[in-house]
Amino acid sequence: MLQYLTIPVTPFQQNCSLIWDDQSLQAAVVDPGGDLEVLLDAVAKLGLKLEQIWITHAHVDHAAGTAELAERLGLPIIGPHPGDQFWIDRLAASAQSYGFPPATAFTPTRWLQDCDTVTLGSHTLQVRHCPGHTPGHVVFHSPEIKRAFVGDVLFAGSIGRTDFPMGNHEDLINAIVQRLWPMGDDTVFIPGHGPESTFGRERKSNPYVGGT
Ligand SMILES: [Zn+2]
Ligand SMILES: [Zn+2]
Repeated sequence: MLQYLTIPVTPFQQNCSLIWDDQSLQAAVVDPGGDLEVLLDAVAKLGLKLEQIWITHAHVDHAAGTAELAERLGLPIIGPHPGDQFWIDRLAASAQSYGFPPATAFTPTRWLQDCDTVTLGSHTLQVRHCPGHTPGHVVFHSPEIKRAFVGDVLFAGSIGRTDFPMGNHEDLINAIVQRLWPMGDDTVFIPGHGPESTFGRERKSNPYVGGT
């Protein structure tokens, strides 16, 4: 069975998640934006074997710790989609301008495309490309535990910003409606910031995409 723990990191309180198999304790970390000591402390306390880094998108609060973590532990970097090369190239400058610790760009071990899968032990998660907040944003969906790690695509009661360079509001709405809603009303999503919700609840009450 897959388990997960969400740990807010960075001054932006970004929801970094550890996902693991409770038998083998093989683990992946989604969006290590920073506070690596906090993350590694949790990994040690849980007794996990951290094997992979999965990235939803390359904004600084989600990806600034990636290069350092990959180098320190020798981990592969999976994702995001190549559309986010623009943001990877700007990681160092973004970290500086937002007052984050120094960050460096990284080269993903594996870029992700729509309908790819990622595996953790014997578990498979589906990858969907959900552009709009950033051009190369991906989400990770586990049908097995009915959870989706959606980064900054959708929040409880809100949606991702599209006023950054290369943001696109129409793309974002299309991604939510065409690629997230089919995961099912009872699927719980873990957004990049703030509390969890379900797709069903957002379909009813989210002021940006309710009724779609
Ligand atoms: Zn973002
Ligand atoms: Zn964010």
